[in-house]
Amino acid sequence: MCGIVGYVGKRNAVPVLVEGLHRLEYRGYDSAGLAVVHRGRLQITKTAGRVQDLRDKLREGVRSSVGIGHTRWATHGEPNEVNAHPHTDSSGRIAVVHNGIIENAEQLRDQLQADGVRLVTDTDTEALAHMIAAEAAQDGALEDAVRRVLRRVEGAYGLVVLDVRRPDQLVVARNGSPIVLGLGENEMFVASDVAALVRYTRQVIYLDDGEVATIRAADYQTGMTSRTPTTVEAETGDYELGPYADFMNKEIHEQPDALRRVLRGRLDDRFATARLGGINLDARQLRGIRQVKFLGCGSAYYAGQMGALLVEELARIPADAEPASEFRYRSPVVDPDTLYVAVSQSGETIDTLMAVQELKRKGGQVIGAVNVVGSAIGRECGSGVFLHAGPEVAVASTKALTNMAATFALLGLLIGRVRDLSAAGGQRIVAGLRALPEQVSRILADEEAIAAAAHRFAGAEHMFYIGRVRGWPVAREGAQKLKEISYVHAEAYQAGELKHGPLALIDGSMPSVVIVPSDDLVAKNISTIEQIRARGGRVIAVTSAGLPEDLADAVIRVPRAEPELEPILLNVPLQTLAYHMAAKLGRDIDKPRNLAKSVTVE
Ligand code: GLU
Repeated sequence: MCGIVGYVGKRNAVPVLVEGLHRLEYRGYDSAGLAVVHRGRLQITKTAGRVQDLRDKLREGVRSSVGIGHTRWATHGEPNEVNAHPHTDSSGRIAVVHNGIIENAEQLRDQLQADGVRLVTDTDTEALAHMIAAEAAQDGALEDAVRRVLRRVEGAYGLVVLDVRRPDQLVVARNGSPIVLGLGENEMFVASDVAALVRYTRQVIYLDDGEVATIRAADYQTGMTSRTPTTVEAETGDYELGPYADFMNKEIHEQPDALRRVLRGRLDDRFATARLGGINLDARQLRGIRQVKFLGCGSAYYAGQMGALLVEELARIPADAEPASEFRYRSPVVDPDTLYVAVSQSGETIDTLMAVQELKRKGGQVIGAVNVVGSAIGRECGSGVFLHAGPEVAVASTKALTNMAATFALLGLLIGRVRDLSAAGGQRIVAGLRALPEQVSRILADEEAIAAAAHRFAGAEHMFYIGRVRGWPVAREGAQKLKEISYVHAEAYQAGELKHGPLALIDGSMPSVVIVPSDDLVAKNISTIEQIRARGGRVIAVTSAGLPEDLADAVIRVPRAEPELEPILLNVPLQTLAYHMAAKLGRDIDKPRNLAKSVTVE
């Protein structure tokens, strides 16, 4: 979950590493460090703070043509300076940065100590540095030493190894945590995420699980057959703030464009259906699908819930969503006629990846819905749909989630049109989808009104998010967003469930956000609002139903859309609401405490 960056080549590695770490800081950020070779010795700089603190600590005048850097998301040992990566062996020959968890670390550490090695950190990673140094003492390539060590290692890793005696190369390895090589002209980069590379190169190679590679300025050897590099789409500007205060706000405002991208080329007016080229299923196979099941974690799971509703409504086949983290551990019954959809922004979410592997083992049909092209889940699934949201940097997902939901509307449309959805019905959805980007722009044009509501409620310590049917996944995602970035306790309930328990908590200090789509349940939702207000609860209504202003303490309005598509719109003001509440509370919005962008550890 952390960030890894490495460089070997013609430039000074130090600024390249610092710049790369800065780009990766959103992935994990409790401490940072780097190692370079200066005058024939390892020079290590570490800090328990942010990359900016690391930059401030760096000694002037250090130059090196090779180096490795890391921002950490601690799993073993406190996030202090000692535990920050890179870790070294006792002689100061080998330095390693590691992303992931070594599961047999305890045992490896015990063994090292029994052999007389003095361990100085609490991390799992340090063991690797000592073990690699011991193997490297024998003759032969560093890569072979690393391979021998990895045979004894259980767990997940993305790894970069620097040997002070071989400053012309780095050895990298991947098992469960992403590693991507960046190819330059007489220089080579390595990182855990292309974000660190796009400034320098667009030519990348994604390592596969189990791969170990040696990189030098002029070449790379992946151990497997030679690989053709992929060209990444991202622009440097995707990782820059521009006029925005933070990435979350920037990404919220990018949603109209992101929606245009996800729909581009995928709406088929002639047959009133969707074109999803990455799903290799013909009409007959599509018709054979008896059920759709979405698997994802966090917001991707809530997007999956939105997707399940969309598929049920448009295709009239049963659909549901489940957290991938549960699915993979509960020995699921895998039905060959079910289409499983693995949903992940990063495409690296470990629980979702494992769920996909479990499904494949059991003969399930699984497609991916991922944002990052070249990521593990996309490759593991072999077929699927890309979300085209563009790089998402803020930890809290906004545009990726919106594009997930829009993608599932396309999927519902596609399956619906080989079943009972009429051409006229299909046209209605095609037109509805096409209208979405503009409708989102209209919601965002109202940001100030939403911010005003957010400021009025920013003192709350707890909040309810209430929704019914189409409003329910929206409420769940809204509550999640608030929790993540403002640290305000928020819980989502189905409107009908309120009086079965949670209503007991309603009083003047427990505001509720009530989602009211313009469907045939408006009257029911109005009565929910009245029940809450009758008990002294304050209500923010988020609605496309043209409710009267005095029905709630604040009314946030959303344009009316095709009813099935409304969740996509209703979610947008909830992002803005959470954003402005968190901003009012002075939170570090892009990097909420304890979280990381892509969850590649268990
Ligand atoms: N398990 C390692 C540690 O705690 C690496 C964690 C990470 O991925 O940042 O130091």
